[in-house]
Amino acid sequence: MIIRVNISIRGAVQGVGFRPFIYRLAKELNLKGFVLNSSKGVFIEAEGEKFDLEKFILRIEKEKPPISFINSFEFSYLEPCGYKEFIIKESDSDEEKSAIILPDIAVCNDCLNEMFDVNDRRYLYPFINCTNCGPRFSIIESLPYDRPNTSMKKFKMCENCRSEYENPGNRRFHAQPIACPDCGPHLELWDTDGEIITKFNDALQLAADLILKGYIIALKGLGGFQLIVDATNDLIVKELRKRKVREEKPLALMFPDINSVKEVCNVSEFEQRVLCSPEAPIVLLRKRSEKLLISDIVAPNNPYLGIMLPYTPLHHLLMKSVNKPIVATSGNISEEPMCIDEYEALIKLKGIADYFLVHNRPIVHHVDDSIVRIVRNRELVLRRARGYAPLPISVEDSTKRKDVTFIAVGAHLKNTIALTNSKNIFISQHIGDLATQESYNAFTRIIKDFEKIYPSQNLIYVSDLHPEYLSTKYAMNHGVNTIKMQHHKAHIAACYAENRLDGEVLGVSWDGTGYGEDGKIWGGEFFITDIKNFKRVATFREFNLPGGEIAIKEPRRSALGLLFQIYGENIFECCQEFISSKFSDKEIELLKHMLVNRINSPLTTSAGRIFDAVASILNIKDISAFEGQAAMMLEYAATNEINEDYYEIIIRDGDIYIIDWEDFIKELIVDSTRKHTKIVAKKFHNTMANIIRRVADILDIKKVVLSGGCFQNILLLEKTIEFLESDGRKVFWHQRVPPNDGGISLGQAFLAVKNYYQVI
Ligand code: ZN
Ligand code: ZN
Ligand code: FE
Repeated sequence: MIIRVNISIRGAVQGVGFRPFIYRLAKELNLKGFVLNSSKGVFIEAEGEKFDLEKFILRIEKEKPPISFINSFEFSYLEPCGYKEFIIKESDSDEEKSAIILPDIAVCNDCLNEMFDVNDRRYLYPFINCTNCGPRFSIIESLPYDRPNTSMKKFKMCENCRSEYENPGNRRFHAQPIACPDCGPHLELWDTDGEIITKFNDALQLAADLILKGYIIALKGLGGFQLIVDATNDLIVKELRKRKVREEKPLALMFPDINSVKEVCNVSEFEQRVLCSPEAPIVLLRKRSEKLLISDIVAPNNPYLGIMLPYTPLHHLLMKSVNKPIVATSGNISEEPMCIDEYEALIKLKGIADYFLVHNRPIVHHVDDSIVRIVRNRELVLRRARGYAPLPISVEDSTKRKDVTFIAVGAHLKNTIALTNSKNIFISQHIGDLATQESYNAFTRIIKDFEKIYPSQNLIYVSDLHPEYLSTKYAMNHGVNTIKMQHHKAHIAACYAENRLDGEVLGVSWDGTGYGEDGKIWGGEFFITDIKNFKRVATFREFNLPGGEIAIKEPRRSALGLLFQIYGENIFECCQEFISSKFSDKEIELLKHMLVNRINSPLTTSAGRIFDAVASILNIKDISAFEGQAAMMLEYAATNEINEDYYEIIIRDGDIYIIDWEDFIKELIVDSTRKHTKIVAKKFHNTMANIIRRVADILDIKKVVLSGGCFQNILLLEKTIEFLESDGRKVFWHQRVPPNDGGISLGQAFLAVKNYYQVI
């Protein structure tokens, strides 16, 4: 007996060959009906024998294109209506918009094989792509994902491309960015005035030669410009740092292939999987001990290198010609977003790049390279952009009010924004530090893009509690309705959402800075929470940060703050030697005045600042060249040390538990003069992990959630997990959303969704 089934599939099913896959499967099973790609997802009606329809449903799940993922799969059986054949229906753009936009996908092997095949019509064509690979988010202007809604609309398909595009049996069937040398984008090499030196493959060859000769090339890649130099050439790496005004921050590398990576770094099976995945992020890998071929200036005093493999056909071609590791760092000035337009790049990167390798496929959304660390064979995403954004985190029972859209505007550093939409929270790509005008512009533009791309109504803005964050101010100025969420609660909520938790947890929220509910600077917080209610149950003993904000850049000020808390005014006598080794007489005068009179010396409970203080006490770093550097160097100092000792710690009972660091800091100072730095650094990490273990023990909560920038430190993270698990607790940490402030927008949105009725 013939019956009909109606199927709705939601998820990342647009632009991954889902329609042709359904078409072929339906034909094979002799079903009649249609498949329709709309902005809501994929809709199928199929008629046939019940047995065949059941097989159809099972095989969709099992055999779906590898890059697609299904968020919901609903089906119901209906009376048949007599379809005559199985067809693909055209997109209907009037539908409610709620489909998921896929991130950009690394070029697939089929395309690579064609690109290097002399007989193929796309031989050496740098913009080759197919239904399974290529640009997505970086070129999409609006949904549904169809060519007229992408920046490929300006290229008219040639006849060959069109016939591939229209042929359901072809692997480029409905590949929206389909292109070939006859009809698609092309390369040009420009000088610094924007004059064309050469075009097409000659441009690529010449650029490769120039890289090898020691020039700085600005490359218009997938999601923006990259600055490229030969990574084995000390002089040019130094020159790049000088021109980019980037003194110490590690530079990302691109290697020709996985084998060349293994010559320089230790690569685990899982690290290899991520390096070679469609996301193709930068992976932080441990350097092998022997002297490397890579310039030391790439990542000074750093046991890790940030490495990625070529992910676009253009990068593959370039790497084949250069055939050695290159530095591939974002084409921008300090913390600004990367340039996406070639004419803008000529202006912005003037004085930095010697040549510009550009193309004429417009980039709609800037997307940085993502950064990933592997922890316990799992991803820990530190910067979430290309390959990850803007995939959503799905939330089980979302807001009860379907007519409300929350827009979470994130924090100040490492900003991202998020938008809620029934069962999903869409998180933007990494935007950056809102301090610069460029980043702020990108921030406002992305909010508008998100409101346009995703259906939104009755907007409610969700921001941080910090009144001075530009993101908070934006929400206050633009939102009719705004909700504020405390920073450290948002961290915990992000991790809770990502791990799809329920019930009560102990949330450990450790970072550098966040505005507390008491107006003080928080950063070493413990909460018991079920996400609806938060109880702050423990924190660190407070200390002063002389100079406030400046202390973030100067770990030596955190050290001084701790000492002042212990010894009071006496430090200027008893610790005189220590202090004058770190500050000039003039500075000491000023700092003394500040601390004694409590001027511009806010109180903090920040765990991140304790890491800073210890980095300074151990003479690892007194003034940071970039955010988080001191803590990072402290971690690296301890990385190869196996010492398992920790300092004893006092936890005082009261309204909330107070972790008193006084005795252990005193001991650590004594140790710092007697023991090797790496031993003390390791002992400090063990101590911090043990603090979490002790608090969890006192409160006796089974599930522990770890979030906040401190948990980018894998020595701390792994030690904490080890301690807690050995006590029989279940530990949850971040995976595909960053533990740093890049995760704040998700946390804000999730709290809003879960607490809507409470807050309004
Ligand atoms: Zn492909
Ligand atoms: Zn063509
Ligand atoms: Fe934070």
